[in-house]
Amino acid sequence: MKVPFLDLTAASAPIQPAIEAALLRAARSGYFIGGPELEAFEAAYAAYLGAPHALGVANGLDALYLGLRAMGIGPGDEVIVPSNTYIATWLAASQCGAVPVPVEPREDTYNLDPAAVEAAITPRTRAILPVHLYGQPADMDALNAIAARHGLHILQDAAQAHGASYKGRKVGAEGHCTWSFYPSKNLGALGDGGALTTDDERIAKEVNLLRNYGSAVKYENDVKGVNSRLDPIQAAVLAVKLEALDAATARRRQIAAMYGAAFAKVGLDHPHVPDWADPVWHLYVVRHPQRDAFQRRLAEAGIGTVIHYPIPPHLQRAYADAGHQPGSLPIAERLAGEVLSLPMCPAQTDAQTEYVIDRVIELS
Ligand SMILES: *Cc1c(COP(=O)(O)O)cnc(C)c1O
Repeated sequence: MKVPFLDLTAASAPIQPAIEAALLRAARSGYFIGGPELEAFEAAYAAYLGAPHALGVANGLDALYLGLRAMGIGPGDEVIVPSNTYIATWLAASQCGAVPVPVEPREDTYNLDPAAVEAAITPRTRAILPVHLYGQPADMDALNAIAARHGLHILQDAAQAHGASYKGRKVGAEGHCTWSFYPSKNLGALGDGGALTTDDERIAKEVNLLRNYGSAVKYENDVKGVNSRLDPIQAAVLAVKLEALDAATARRRQIAAMYGAAFAKVGLDHPHVPDWADPVWHLYVVRHPQRDAFQRRLAEAGIGTVIHYPIPPHLQRAYADAGHQPGSLPIAERLAGEVLSLPMCPAQTDAQTEYVIDRVIELS
């Protein structure tokens, strides 16, 4: 048997005719920048999350960057970021001219440790950028309390968490969230896409300016903005995929439940879910002390896995100038050496999931 890590063609097969109809409609609409397809998706996504405002942008990194810009983050400022995340989270702060200050995660949830966040705050700290990593919400009540105590902004990187809930409230319903619609994300376009959602009209207005050259009135530019757009063709596809998102998430949750029950029974490492979190399982991540050999054995058995992420941002050449040393962020470094993402695809059958479970137990 073969079990791919993620099969995007199989995952969208049930809605492929609807996707193709949407593509044709968008191609014939005469709107190639902005217009009704974009506005309809923005409204549908805002309604899905319970967010007052949703603004489409070109990708998830732009959403992060524009969110920080809208909060006034700039040179000389410090932004607290997780030490274990995709590098985009850090790059957004760097693009603003700010300094990303890494904070270690809790080892049980892989998400920001609120106590460590508070210890990292300096007079220059302006914002906290929590990531809902692997589709599991970070502990927002604790982080919001810290931000309120110190007068900090919070921008949530929800690129992996479309549809996740925290204490019964959907991620995105409150505060400011950024989303990626990169094809392999839980809600993915046929190319790049992103969005920012917010419950603050001021932030929505500012991002609306910034994404459009800093202009609200054509040929009048109030700030030095950028060109960052969600294409109407992608918006039309995303509207179709959004309608199928809850069914896909339900399937991911079934697969995660099968994995979790089987691995718990034999005492194998598997993700811990706090009782206040309802994750959407963008990734199902286990740990193994000899991870690379384990991954090779699984590959030989026909099982596709991926490492998220093999090199933490502070040890990337891109951040050599920041002077972070190996050993400075031991949890992130240990995770980078041990984590392995198992197959997780809404199209994965029970037989495939059982095959993965049996081989993981046998080969770990
Ligand atoms: C995918 C991702 C991003 C970046 O999204 P793009 O659309 O690829 O720019 C940012 N943060 C996290 C945590 C991601 O997983």
